[in-house]
Amino acid sequence: MKYFRTQGIVLRYTNFKEADRMLTVFSPDRGKMQVLARGCRKPRSRLLAASQLFCYADYIFVKSKEIYIITQADVKDSFYDIRNDMERLTYGTHILALTEEAVNYEEGNFRLFYMLLQILAYLAYGEINPEDVAHVFELKLIDLLGYRPALDRCIACGSGLEQMNSNKLYFSTSQGGIVCNNCHSRVNDGYTIHKNTIQTMRFILGMDIKRLGVLKFSRMVRNELDYILSAYLNEIIGKPLKTRSFIEHIKNER
Ligand SMILES: [Zn+2]
Repeated sequence: MKYFRTQGIVLRYTNFKEADRMLTVFSPDRGKMQVLARGCRKPRSRLLAASQLFCYADYIFVKSKEIYIITQADVKDSFYDIRNDMERLTYGTHILALTEEAVNYEEGNFRLFYMLLQILAYLAYGEINPEDVAHVFELKLIDLLGYRPALDRCIACGSGLEQMNSNKLYFSTSQGGIVCNNCHSRVNDGYTIHKNTIQTMRFILGMDIKRLGVLKFSRMVRNELDYILSAYLNEIIGKPLKTRSFIEHIKNER
């Protein structure tokens, strides 16, 4: 049997048998992994803390046939404050679901791993609105996946943002960029977008994620980012995410 060590973040789990749990763990060097945490739901299990959603730990696994089994785990951060708050938990679960879509099995992704760690830290300990944290993650993820939107000029006719009538701008999710009023009739998936939202998107794409704390979002920018990023992600991933319906739900509760 072969032992190895890796860092990981728990993206999802399924309980089975009396006290076991199958985890989906994201490792920076191995990508997505299906991992068995044996007996982790027993009250005094050493693996209990390391088998919770969002947990960031150093794991030692043994590979037996096709299954990875945790033999040891050293929790570095449980991000407990995310699980402790309904709104943070909802956006946090959405962020994990997006990560799960973006990562492959047996394929490391260091950039996404460290971005996710920083985002979870903001979500757990920061003062920023959890919805804004999720939007920053969504846009950075879109960029990481190779779909950075074109925000400088109209993707149909090429006219620059400065020459456009700034009251009538659109974002096309199928083309991945902004469309001017003249070209709008030729695309049928143009969402209304204001210049402030375009500028915020450009700022997010250019900034280091460590500076997330300096961002301030107006309600209008937040709303536009919400439907535009969500529609664009559906286009990229090819389906709507289930976690979206929880977000709609808590928004309606407010
Ligand atoms: Zn145009």
